Amino acid sequence: MADTPQLLDFIVDRTHAGIFVVDRDMRIVLWNQFMEVHSGRKRDELLDQDLFDAFPELPRKWLTRKINNVFILKNFSFTSWEQRPYLFKFPHNRPVTGGVDCMRQDCTLMPVKNDAGEVEYVCFTLFDVTDTSIYQMQLEDLTKQLRDASNRDGLTGLHNRRFIEETLASEFARAQRHDHALSLIITDIDHFKRVNDEHGHLAGDEVLRRVAQRLNDGLRISDHLGRYGGEEFLVVLPETPLEGAETLCERLRQAIAEEPIPLGDGALPVSISLGISQFRPGVRNYEQLIEEADQALYRAKETGRNRYTIFQPPSAA
Ligand code: GH3
Ligand code: MG
Ligand code: MG
Repeated sequence: MADTPQLLDFIVDRTHAGIFVVDRDMRIVLWNQFMEVHSGRKRDELLDQDLFDAFPELPRKWLTRKINNVFILKNFSFTSWEQRPYLFKFPHNRPVTGGVDCMRQDCTLMPVKNDAGEVEYVCFTLFDVTDTSIYQMQLEDLTKQLRDASNRDGLTGLHNRRFIEETLASEFARAQRHDHALSLIITDIDHFKRVNDEHGHLAGDEVLRRVAQRLNDGLRISDHLGRYGGEEFLVVLPETPLEGAETLCERLRQAIAEEPIPLGDGALPVSISLGISQFRPGVRNYEQLIEEADQALYRAKETGRNRYTIFQPPSAA
């Protein structure tokens, strides 16, 4: 038992966490080996010094309040790296590829009371959580990539049918609620079966990718494009009245028809047909908008392809 104090000193010094203690005047009264190693400052130099004089880069206002609260409230206090990445800017020994510039730290502030129950010191324990933070950031990145991949079509890289329908559903709800304009375009490649029949399925896939790319290049950032079916695409145009949708249809039509799609050594002329529908009071749901755009597309096909047609509501017909 006589050795206990030395034993405790030994443990405090060798434990793999930063431990240091300050008194009511913010003077440092304990500074363990972990803190020495990572700060590069010896305890002999620091003992009795004001914490903020010794480390002017510390967040003085915030930390003073935090320490004072422990003195007054006599409770533990914590900070995690997620709220404040670090207290002391210590280097870490991980590869730079981790994306973390310095050691991430979780800190505990523990009240140390005297016999009268008053808090005499605040003891800091500082844990190196750099690895956890790197794993967590990697996990978040991966989750984001997975979520994005699950919304995309594998062949064209465009949003898939589920995602573009969800987008349309929410834009439809918004248009309905605020009585905003909303236009919808369905487009379908003309005689695409022939491309497959004459050049093979792989060539068909390549044409699909190229067409998707050209459609995408022709849009504004606020427009939403998705692959709706085999060679059919949906374009959702929030806040866009009919004239805007018509202008876009013509631009997209030209973008495809005016320049044959490069294929192997040659190039293949391709065209698309498009159908437009528009939100107006009385349209029940987004499915009706799709149905109406599809009817317009059918008319564009019937009347010669390589063109767009607007859905005419029965009352206006
Ligand atoms: P129309 O002008 O009337 O639209 O004629 P079309 O030949 O394009 O119409 P249809 O709907 O009969 O044919 C669509 C073709 O698209 C049939 C199908 O084999 C092909 N297709 C659908 N998805 C893919 C795909 O992912 N890759 C390839 N290569 N072909 C596809
Ligand atoms: Mg087609
Ligand atoms: Mg089709």
